[in-house]
Amino acid sequence: MIYYKTDEEIELIRKSCLLVSKTLALAASLLKPGVTGISIDKKAEDLIRDHGAVPGFKGYNSFPATLCISVNDQVVHGIPSDREFLPTDIVSVDCGVYMNEFFGDAAYTFALGEVDLKTMELLVTTKDSLYKGIESAVHGNRLGDIGYAVQNHAEKTHKYGVVRELVGHGIGKNLHESPEVPNYGKKGRGAILKDGLVIAIEPMINLGRKAVKLQDDNWTIVTKDSTPSAHYEHTVAVRKTHADILSDHTELEKEIKNNPELKEISIKN
Ligand code: MG
Ligand code: MG
Repeated sequence: MIYYKTDEEIELIRKSCLLVSKTLALAASLLKPGVTGISIDKKAEDLIRDHGAVPGFKGYNSFPATLCISVNDQVVHGIPSDREFLPTDIVSVDCGVYMNEFFGDAAYTFALGEVDLKTMELLVTTKDSLYKGIESAVHGNRLGDIGYAVQNHAEKTHKYGVVRELVGHGIGKNLHESPEVPNYGKKGRGAILKDGLVIAIEPMINLGRKAVKLQDDNWTIVTKDSTPSAHYEHTVAVRKTHADILSDHTELEKEIKNNPELKEISIKN
């Protein structure tokens, strides 16, 4: 069952998403070598609750934290830990917020100052693949068009592994709704996208092969070949003429520029 949202509902989801974006910007301002995921998670939870909202992930299927923090070969669903970040780490931060009965969801992979060029290319390409997917999220297109756009971009120039087991999703009154939004697919296949559909598009791309496995904590997904993995996510509303991106990475990218310990996710790196 797919729930199409009214304009009013889309604006409420946007509000939740903007608090997610604010939380990711806070994470960007705090990330540096020696800092722990747990300390960032605590501040993220405080920020969300200070806005009268509730962390969207904490307690979801018993997940113990506000943020998913996934480092290096961890793909997604990493539990914030007391391990101190290293200057060579890439750090994926995924945040969900529940406010006014609607969820927002977005993620970003950050690079600390000594991340190597090959990994930086993975991050840039994964981020670009998200925006390629979003361009296809328009009324009248099909779900497969989104997956094709993401997959084609990730596989075209680099032989990156596109994760299959985890996918994007519808979002609204529930964190995960129909339909599933795979990061692979064929043009012109799958459900038709209609005005009012709100989905989280979230490519998870590995530097090496696509295979992943679950760690013993029963949450963290890692690459099987231990290569680094990147994850970028926006919540997007399908509209008649365009894709309306409800989350916003502008603030967090400003924080990256202001944080001397982080690299910008752009080609010039
Ligand atoms: Mg997410
Ligand atoms: Mg999501």
